[in-house]
Amino acid sequence: MNQYLSQLFPLSPELLTLADQCEEKIAPVFARIDDIAAYNEAKVLAAFNRHKISAAHLTGTNGYGYDDLGRDTLDQVFADVLGAEDALVRHTFVSGTHALTVALFGVLRTGDRMVAVTGAPYDTLEEVIGLRGEGNGSLRDFGVSYDQVDLLPDGSPDYEAIKKAVKGAKLAHIQRSRGYATRPSLSVGTIGAIISAIREASPETIVFVDNCYGEFVEKQEPTAVGADLIVGSLIKNAGGGIAETGGYIAGRHDLVELCGYRLTSPGIGREAGCSLNQNRPMYMGLFYAPSVVASAIKTSVFASALFEQLGYDVSPRYDEPRTDLILQLTLGSREKMCAFCTGIQHGSPIDSHVTPVPWAMPGYNDEVIMAAGAFTLGASIELSADGPMREPYAVWMQGGLTWNTGKIGVLLAAEECGKAEKREA
Ligand SMILES: *Cc1c(COP(=O)(O)O)cnc(C)c1O
Repeated sequence: MNQYLSQLFPLSPELLTLADQCEEKIAPVFARIDDIAAYNEAKVLAAFNRHKISAAHLTGTNGYGYDDLGRDTLDQVFADVLGAEDALVRHTFVSGTHALTVALFGVLRTGDRMVAVTGAPYDTLEEVIGLRGEGNGSLRDFGVSYDQVDLLPDGSPDYEAIKKAVKGAKLAHIQRSRGYATRPSLSVGTIGAIISAIREASPETIVFVDNCYGEFVEKQEPTAVGADLIVGSLIKNAGGGIAETGGYIAGRHDLVELCGYRLTSPGIGREAGCSLNQNRPMYMGLFYAPSVVASAIKTSVFASALFEQLGYDVSPRYDEPRTDLILQLTLGSREKMCAFCTGIQHGSPIDSHVTPVPWAMPGYNDEVIMAAGAFTLGASIELSADGPMREPYAVWMQGGLTWNTGKIGVLLAAEECGKAEKREA
């Protein structure tokens, strides 16, 4: 069924036969993905209907942005969809890290302690918390202390240590996605179990979940299992590849209000902040998000099955349950990392003629290689891959706006890796 692709792309008949076999094998997994997408798409449509979204919501405001109907209603639509009391959705969040920063600074005060209960948080939070850098206005600079409970060696939460560590803590931090670490991602069910343990030991502690890469991968979000605040980026899952920028914070009403005061000013909070012309792409992005997320997961599941068949170490495996978009592929050499990223780049809609090369990115110890040919700069809901040039020479791959084109990117990556293997032999 994939043989026609060889007329359009430099793909060998042998690889395309293997692709056919993989697609047959993963059909039951795709049925589960479609089932989740159907549920989440219905949830989004129902929220649009409940809030009577009309053309007036799609136009924007300028200046102070008072009484921005589209902006204020989008907050409520997001809250409904995420199973939260309230939400703050703004294009003025410059990234996921910014939304996470606003949320942490929104609720933490001098003398408070936060505990990361699922191991080290995402890299960019190190400077926010104050684990790296000094005097740049981190939480530590403002007198917020930090503790960490690591996951157990098998990747599961250390419930006993968590119960001890959260006693008296103002905030417990949970990260759903593996990010770019070699730990498993945490399902919403597991996050619910962690939250129960935290509540048992310390009912007042605010449970905070970094939900980046997680939205719509399952039928429920962590807010539905008791998280007080969840945070994500709109150039990942929740923006459906259509939002041009932005992020969201969702959860308890009182906490979301505090985040609004931190985003703008105490007293002004959420009532100001014009939406310019961003309401329409944010609404439309949310509308598309569950189906785009399904395409990205299908791309990831296919890559997992194909590369396992080709003899590589993959995590998660194609039939393991998913809670985020990320696939880790261990390729084993610098040459194959370059080959893989070249294939992904050549299979992208934008900048497909470019060949990525490793470079010394500021802030990283090793050279990094990245493949991204996206409509939105840095949008990792679009097909992309990257990794540091060091043992075990692994790349992290995610995204794919449509499954049929994501598949082509993965196949070109496999073809390039095959050529690299021959060169190495
Ligand atoms: C992407 C991501 C972030 C935020 O990253 P930005 O590049 O700032 O949007 C935070 N945490 C996790 C787990 C992520 O995957």
